Amino acid sequence: MWEQASAELRNTIGETHYQTWITRLEFVGVEKSVARFHAPTTFVGDWVSRNYADKILNSISAAGGQASRIEIRVAEMTAAHDAGPAAPAQGHASAAAADRAVVPARAAGGDGDLPGATLDNRFRFENFVVGKPNALAHAAARRVAEAGPVTFNPLFLYGGVGLGKTHLMHAIAWQLRAAHPELRVLYLSAEQFMYRFVSALRDKAIMDFKGLFRSVDVLMVDDVQFIAGKGGTQEEFFHTFNALVDQNRQIVISADRAPGEIKDLEDRIKSRLQCGLVVDLHPTDYELRLGILQQKAEQYADTYGTLTIQPGVLEFLAHRITTNVRVLEGALTRLFAFASLVGREIDLDLVQECLADILRTSEQRVTVEEIQRKVAEHYNVRLADLIGPKRMRTIARPRQVAMYLAKELTPRSLPEIGRCFGGRDHTTIMHGVRKITSLRESDRQLNEDLDLLRRLLQS
Ligand code: ADP
Ligand code: MG
Repeated sequence: MWEQASAELRNTIGETHYQTWITRLEFVGVEKSVARFHAPTTFVGDWVSRNYADKILNSISAAGGQASRIEIRVAEMTAAHDAGPAAPAQGHASAAAADRAVVPARAAGGDGDLPGATLDNRFRFENFVVGKPNALAHAAARRVAEAGPVTFNPLFLYGGVGLGKTHLMHAIAWQLRAAHPELRVLYLSAEQFMYRFVSALRDKAIMDFKGLFRSVDVLMVDDVQFIAGKGGTQEEFFHTFNALVDQNRQIVISADRAPGEIKDLEDRIKSRLQCGLVVDLHPTDYELRLGILQQKAEQYADTYGTLTIQPGVLEFLAHRITTNVRVLEGALTRLFAFASLVGREIDLDLVQECLADILRTSEQRVTVEEIQRKVAEHYNVRLADLIGPKRMRTIARPRQVAMYLAKELTPRSLPEIGRCFGGRDHTTIMHGVRKITSLRESDRQLNEDLDLLRRLLQS
C-alpha cells in the first residue's frame, strides 16, 4: 500500500521534494487510522509533518489505506533511509537502474563522518565525454581532483541545466576519495547546506555545524543559486567560505549562471565567488552529443547484449535532441528498453515510434517574439521601444542583439524577421546581424550577454 501511496506522492510533490524528504522516512504501518513513520532526525520529522501531512494522507487514501493522522517518530533508521537526501535522479527510466548503484557518502575514508550527499556511481571522469563546450570545465575539475597545491579558489562551474556540472563535481569527489582517502571531502547541494544550517539552528547545534564545515579539506556546493535571497544561509555560507579560503582549502561551487548574474546574491559573496576560476559549460554541440550517445550506447550494449543499433540512429538523435544531455540520455534509455521489450533492432522507425514526444518538443523552436521579450528584459528596455522606431543607442544596440539572435536561433528569413521588428527592411536586419557579428570579436560583455540570452531561450 505504501509503495503505491508513495508513488502517487512522488507525482504530486515532484521528484526533488520526494527525494529530499519522503525517501528519508521509513513507513511503519497504519494502525487505528494513524499512519506511522520513522524519521532520522527531529528536523526531518517536523518538516514532513508540517509540509506534507495532508498530501501523505491523501495519497494513502488514494492507495486504499485508511488514515486520518500521521505520526512520525525519530528512530534508528535502516541504512537505506539514513543515507541522506540522494541527488534527484531525474529522467532515468528503470532500464538505467541497473547501472545506477549509489553508494552512501558515509563510506570509509577521511570523510567518513561527513554528512555529504550521495555520490552517483556513474558520475566519474571515465564516463565524462570531453568536447569543445566543456573542455575547460573538465580540465579545471581534473586539476582540482589531483589535490595539488590550491591554485584557484574557488573553482566556479556554471552552465545550463543538464550540461554536466553535477557529474564533474561527483567525479572530483570519487577521484579524491580513491587517491587521497585521508582528505575530508564534502559534497552537497546548496539546498542541503541550507537544511543542515536551519536544522542546526533549531537544534542549537550551530557550533557543531560551523566546526564541521570548517574542518573539511575540500568543500563542494552544488547549485549555489539556491541560497540567493536566503539571508541567514547566505551569511553562513559566506563565513564558511571565507574560513576555508583562509585556510587554503579547496572549494568548488556550481550554479546555473555566472556569479554576477545570480539575482539576490549579496555583492560581497558574488565578488568572492569571482575570485577564483570561473568556468562556463557551454551548450553541447553536435559532436559532443554524438560522443555522449556513443559512450552510452556502448554501455547499454554490455547490458543488452543482443540489441543492435542501425547506423544513423545516434547521428539522428544528436542532431535532433539539442536541449540537454539528460534528455538525450533519457531518449537512449527508452530506446533500449523499448527495443528489448519488443525484441526489435533499433532503427529510425523505432526511434520515430518510441520517441515521438521528445522529438516533437525538441522541434519547438524559439520564436522571434520570445527573443524580443527576453532581450528587452535583459537590457531593461521596453518591448515596444525595442520593436519601435527609436534610434538612440541604448535601444538600438539591444534591438540589434535581438535581430542577431532571431537570425541565429530561428529558421526565419531576413524579411520575415524584418516584419517582426515593426516592418523593417531586410537590409536593416542584415546590417544589425553584421554589426553584432563584428562587435563580438572584441566585446567581451556582449559575448557574455549573448551566451546568457541563448541559454535562457534554449532552456
Ligand atoms: P547539471 O548538474 O549541469 O544539471 P548533470 O551533471 O546532472 O547536469 O548531467 C546530466 C546528465 O547528463 C547526467 O546523467 C550526466 O552524466 C550526463 N552528462 C552531462 N554531460 C556529460 C558528458 N560530457 N559526458 C557524459 N555524460 C554527461
Ligand atoms: Mg546539477
